[in-house]
Amino acid sequence: MTLSTSFERVSLPLEHDFTISRGTQTEAENVIVQIEDEGGTTGVGAAAPSAHYGETADTVEAVLPDLLAAVESVDDPHALAEVERRTREVVEDNPAARCAVSIALHDLAAKRLGVPLHRLWGLDPTDVPESSFTIGLDEIGTMREKTREAVAAGYGTLKLKLGTDRDREVVEAVREEAPDATIRVDANEAWTARETVANSRWLADLGVEFIEQPVPASDPEGLKFAYERSELPVAADESCVTLADVPRIADRCDVANLKLMKCGGLLEAKRMVHAARAHGLEVMLGCMIESNAVIAAGCQLAPLLDYADLDGSLLLAEDPFDGVAMPAGEIDLAGQTRNGTGAVEN
Ligand SMILES: [Mg+2]
Repeated sequence: MTLSTSFERVSLPLEHDFTISRGTQTEAENVIVQIEDEGGTTGVGAAAPSAHYGETADTVEAVLPDLLAAVESVDDPHALAEVERRTREVVEDNPAARCAVSIALHDLAAKRLGVPLHRLWGLDPTDVPESSFTIGLDEIGTMREKTREAVAAGYGTLKLKLGTDRDREVVEAVREEAPDATIRVDANEAWTARETVANSRWLADLGVEFIEQPVPASDPEGLKFAYERSELPVAADESCVTLADVPRIADRCDVANLKLMKCGGLLEAKRMVHAARAHGLEVMLGCMIESNAVIAAGCQLAPLLDYADLDGSLLLAEDPFDGVAMPAGEIDLAGQTRNGTGAVEN
């Protein structure tokens, strides 16, 4: 066996500027990783680095040569656990870079076995939650318009970004435009614990499903305060980064929001799912703004989830990769005809 590896940075312009409580993004930089076996079968993955977690395309490109050298030294496309362990030894941090390698290797392993990745794991592709579609922060008129577009396109679950002094007005406007939609909100750490409790009352009146990361991750006591008093379930995203965070959040939220780019690999994501379940938490898989080279891998985990927020590729103007079909947020894992993660270059 001789595995060969390569990587390439791509800039992905967004369909619309994307604003959350922390700032605005107009494009996403992903780094595509490919691992090829001697027969020419190629596994593909990507890193979607997030500056919030200390990574950029530059830091990803800086560590990938060492990570890929570790893959080549193991030289076994089915040694998924060994490679994930070795890459973690080589680079302890940089989870997005490690995750790109993990995804590419899983894609290659499943392709070599001639099955979609979820089949390799033995998961039921018919039992998956639908993905939400995210409406970023904007002028209320624009948010109304985006909501109308999403409803017209058939999306049944919307995720609203909040964290301004217009939050109530925003949710009321969106609820008006989408009376039947499931609406969840994400404050991205913008509220205090007391604001969260107060906001939860009118959010509950507006039929909101849950509140994601209301308070800063640096305030675990605030998360507990909010969780214990909120009218609505609370999900932890920024407070739930790695496996070690799962027991830490277990008594202060209802839902653990995992992301591949936070945890560093597909095996680690599965460990987090099971740890969260063991602690009585529900499980959501979110994403960064990222190509189908990542999203398709996230879709493979969908049968393990209660909630999916896998709209990263849908927010791009153009994605160089096609992935698992997701018409109006319905993740069509059962209809996946390609082996591996299902990601393929357009
Ligand atoms: Mg979030």
